[in-house]
Amino acid sequence: MNVLLTGGAGYIGSHVIRALTAGGHECVAYDNLGNGHAEAVGEAKLIVADLADGDALRAALKENAIDAVVHLAAFIEAGESVEKPDKYFHNNTIIGLTLLDAMRDCGVKTMVFSSTAAVYGRPERVPIIEDDRLDPINPYGASKLCVEFMLRAYATAYGMEFVALRYFNVAGASADGTIGEDHSPETHLVPLVLQVARGRRKDIKIFGCDYDTPDGTCIRDYIHVSDLADAHVLAIHAATAGGVKVYNLGNGEGFSVRQVIETCRAVTGCDIPVEDAPRRAGDPPRLVASSEKAMKQLGWQPRFPKLETIVEHAWRWHRTHPNGYA
Ligand code: UDP
Repeated sequence: MNVLLTGGAGYIGSHVIRALTAGGHECVAYDNLGNGHAEAVGEAKLIVADLADGDALRAALKENAIDAVVHLAAFIEAGESVEKPDKYFHNNTIIGLTLLDAMRDCGVKTMVFSSTAAVYGRPERVPIIEDDRLDPINPYGASKLCVEFMLRAYATAYGMEFVALRYFNVAGASADGTIGEDHSPETHLVPLVLQVARGRRKDIKIFGCDYDTPDGTCIRDYIHVSDLADAHVLAIHAATAGGVKVYNLGNGEGFSVRQVIETCRAVTGCDIPVEDAPRRAGDPPRLVASSEKAMKQLGWQPRFPKLETIVEHAWRWHRTHPNGYA
């Protein structure tokens, strides 16, 4: 299939391109390079354009005979979304609608949508299954859930087909160390902790030590970026006309912020100083996925489920690319 990836030059996009290409698909990355890196797309075609530019988008869909879209382009920081909801709803929700309209107009029926565990808000139980209550507690999660609602309506009305993948906490890098995470500024836990290990940062701030969890810090379910990427390849084949399928993607095991830091200490052999800091707005205390449905229905099987491996691969990338793609 010919697949267009919005945000294809980003961290997750570059790994999805790898997985799709290995599966025999032709990839076109569509990215404004606001956060992405041209080097990350490898041999794939890169179109540098904005998603808000409907003409450029329609041309990209038509000229490349696109069969399916993987929609990854988004702002992704829960904490920032509390301060700047306008940025999140404009970019993630309204531009998502622009993309859906362009696809419908160009006869492109299939999309794999990158959704998020943030749609669940504060879950009533973990592990979370897909039918659990959807009640985001930050605008980031709400902006993505709005798109999920739009997908349902467009599937019904226009016979389009969608798979929404609800990512839990994505980390790691390709096992060969050639592509990885390069955000500026970085806000995610694993790369920030590794910056401390590399001496780029003096300590890691722990956002909230008084949560109702065993060690008082937030619990997350970390998934290797290459395992996440593999799920996209399976998802493209799982889409069926007039439907929306939804899958959680995580490893089913929760780690606290302190446990993640401890794992990073063990992997790197470095002393990693911490500082207790106030809670970050919009953070749910505990998010752990049940990915049984993805395993059963998509045949998805993570290759790197251990947190140690995820951190090892991230560490390899950061040590060999101290300045990212620069
Ligand atoms: N976190 C932290 N210090 C940091 C960055 C993150 O304590 O410098 C915590 C954050 O509050 C959350 C967890 O680490 O509980 C994972 O945060 P991240 O931003 O990596 O992903 P999110 O869960 O927001 O998608």
